[in-house]
Amino acid sequence: MSASEHADVFVIGLGPAGACAAAEAARRGCRVVAVDRRHEPGRPVQCAEFVPALIGTEVEALAHSVQQPIRSMMTFVEEEAPDVRENFPGTMLDRAMFDAALVEQAKRAGVTCAFGVSVRHLSRKGEIGLSDGRAVSARVIVGADGPRSLAGRAIGRSNVALVETRQITVALLSPYEATDIFLSRAIPGGYGWLFPKGKLANLGAGIEPAHKARLKTVVDELHHSLAGDGRVGVEVLGLTGGLIPVGGMLEPWGRLGATLVLLAGDAAGLTNPITGAGIAAAVHSGKLAGEAASLAVAGDAFAARDYEDELRSVFGAALERARRRREELASALAGRVAAKAALRRGWIAYPEYWAP
Ligand SMILES: Cc1cc2nc3c(=O)[nH]c(=O)nc-3n(C[C@H](O)[C@H](O)[C@H](O)COP(=O)(O)OP(=O)(O)OC[C@H]3O[C@@H](n4cnc5c(N)ncnc54)[C@H](O)[C@@H]3O)c2cc1C
Repeated sequence: MSASEHADVFVIGLGPAGACAAAEAARRGCRVVAVDRRHEPGRPVQCAEFVPALIGTEVEALAHSVQQPIRSMMTFVEEEAPDVRENFPGTMLDRAMFDAALVEQAKRAGVTCAFGVSVRHLSRKGEIGLSDGRAVSARVIVGADGPRSLAGRAIGRSNVALVETRQITVALLSPYEATDIFLSRAIPGGYGWLFPKGKLANLGAGIEPAHKARLKTVVDELHHSLAGDGRVGVEVLGLTGGLIPVGGMLEPWGRLGATLVLLAGDAAGLTNPITGAGIAAAVHSGKLAGEAASLAVAGDAFAARDYEDELRSVFGAALERARRRREELASALAGRVAAKAALRRGWIAYPEYWAP
């Protein structure tokens, strides 16, 4: 294969990480080409759509996609009454609109974006083979291609630990401004959730892949119980799912011949191993990857190492704590002792989670 087109920076994936990386590199003067195998930004939505309040400080796109505010978190441990955490501010966003707004920003910055185009192949020399038959080369490839990143695989960095999810959309029968979290030993390696979005709600669960066969039952039972309480409608209005990396941060760069490859977002394992949250990290790491890509194009030999250092300083401690808590929880539940205490220590709402 010999490349017929050349870009300074080629971005694989136009989710939040890829759109932000592409926009940042283009704003810094690079010629950026980005592709996504989806036919339109953000659709189908594979997300529960909650982001913590802090993301609003850096993402203009958020303003275009707010569904409703979140003020508190309710955690249900097994069948017990919920523990309430007030002051848990955040936003339920319309993920499809959010992703589309980020792509618009990338286009405005000068990125050439193509949808319905997959990267099929990355050669050892860094040549990029596309599903439309084109071959492209680039100084830098940004792999923002999600949990099972092709770019990551090409440089030997793959997310090994993953959680399987299933989520339905249901009617929300009265206004609600909390995120409900359901912890149970019946949902190993994950949890159930009910996140309100106006007159609708996202109701789902994540679970260890080994228990995937139980996932539908877990979600159906949660739905049945919440519908029985009169909180949500009986009818299932939508169904989605997807994988969430839970193994923590990967080394976020490597080389294919002379081409530098940077990973961002889920592809770099930046999703929180306990909560599964990854939107804010995708946005932030995407911007940093775009900056690093532009520096590398300009000849900075340390751009990739500096990118890794920056990611570790921003996300390292939080991801490591979550990864450890995940391991502790798995071994505590395998030992069948004090399951409720172990579930609390493994969840961010409780002081035990933050204790040394
Ligand atoms: C069910 C579910 C619920 C979630 N809920 C939340 C939540 O409430 N809050 C939160 O913060 N996080 C949540 N997450 C995680 C969050 O969705 C991700 O962390 C976030 O999408 C990561 O963004 P990204 O840009 O790295 O990857 P993605 O959003 O996955 O984007 C990757 C893009 O790459 C494209 N792509 C992949 N391979 C190729 C290829 N070979 N060629 C071309 N394009 C390719 C894909 O089509 C995709 O558009 C949830 C995840 C799931 C599965």
